[in-house]
Amino acid sequence: MPTPNVRVMIAMLLIISLTSAVRGDDAVPNDPPLRWWKGNIHTHSLWSDGNDFPEMIAEWYRSRDYNFLALSDHNIMSEGMRWMKLSAIEKRGGDQVLPKYETRFGGGWVEIRGAGDEREIRLKPLDEFRNLVEDRGKFIMIPGEEITDSVKGKPVHMNATNLTALIQPLSGETVGAAMEANLRAAEDQAKRTGREILVHLNHPNFHYAITAEEIAHVVTERFFEVYNGHPGVNHLGDKDHPSIERMWDIANTIRLGGLEAPVLYGVATDDSHVYHGKQGSRPGRGWVMVQSRYLTPEHLVRAMKAGRFYCSSGVSLTSVEFDATSGNVKLAIDAKPGVQYTTQFIGTKKNFDGTSTPRLDKDGKEINATRLYSADVGAVLATSKELAPSYQLQGDELFVRAVVTSSESPADPSHRDQLQQAWTQPFVPKPTR
Ligand SMILES: [Zn+2]
Ligand SMILES: [Zn+2]
Repeated sequence: MPTPNVRVMIAMLLIISLTSAVRGDDAVPNDPPLRWWKGNIHTHSLWSDGNDFPEMIAEWYRSRDYNFLALSDHNIMSEGMRWMKLSAIEKRGGDQVLPKYETRFGGGWVEIRGAGDEREIRLKPLDEFRNLVEDRGKFIMIPGEEITDSVKGKPVHMNATNLTALIQPLSGETVGAAMEANLRAAEDQAKRTGREILVHLNHPNFHYAITAEEIAHVVTERFFEVYNGHPGVNHLGDKDHPSIERMWDIANTIRLGGLEAPVLYGVATDDSHVYHGKQGSRPGRGWVMVQSRYLTPEHLVRAMKAGRFYCSSGVSLTSVEFDATSGNVKLAIDAKPGVQYTTQFIGTKKNFDGTSTPRLDKDGKEINATRLYSADVGAVLATSKELAPSYQLQGDELFVRAVVTSSESPADPSHRDQLQQAWTQPFVPKPTR
């Protein structure tokens, strides 16, 4: 029989252990502080035209310090019973795809049927394999889809992140109408299921299908890819088409300077298809860093809808601060030794020259491309070489954004002369009235 003192101690210990149980643990602390989570929300697997098994792709990202990954195959979600011919898998990814899968997960996991030319491997649904790769508080999978639409031969691709059911591409008379229809379908599903769904427009310069004006006018679309790691997406544009970054500034100038519409946020993604070292769209080139307390799809998507994230192709920021009242922007760069960083603050002022002219072909005929705008649109307002660059908005800007460029190339560049970068979201000054 313990003495009364010992009994009190035991009771106290019990209370302490109960409190710590209630107050969380290392993986999911009670009331955790805001932190950055790294993720890629545009990824392809064998479920559509990628060349690896989804759990192998998840492992690629998980083991490289990513915190979340959305598989976004073309017009399909990784669900249901699906077998794929080994010959088709090898044709796509080479003869090491299956041995690598078996080496990682073992014969007890990999499902094979048939023999000879008829050998088939089962593609596992997300619901089945996520239990193997997810790590609470560290790495989660988010269901996604690349709604792969087209309008009169122009590709209109939109990623939907955190879906529960497939959205069939709805198309339309125009690019804008197709985008709006797909956005409505996602919105309906979000309402019906009570989930946060994020839809972003993919690679607008792929086949030069979508103009900055079209993006600007679909005001229900809040996100587009300012960087996509696929080498075929014309990131820099050409003589008839502006770069993706310039399109971003044009679209936001139209939205904020004329339509009184919400700002368009930028997303960076891999659009990865190729996982075995071959030429093409390899993983690890572009990602988002999202500021959130919890690593759950809902918290991540809500943070992105609030603009609390930045994009990266290699540069890391430890903080991005914007005081909407004072108009002060302050960044802190997570600098690597021996590397130089240049930050440009880019924006459009309210009194910008809004004239634009169409682009013409050699016969003087108007071409279907983003129009030419004055240098006031997306002007470089300041440049800094500091590691804690800051900018004071004057209140006469429609928006100001920052892009940090490193002196280092990425390990695996996706376009010519590429340097590692980070892109903040546009900062919009608070209306004074
Ligand atoms: Zn696409
Ligand atoms: Zn894609």
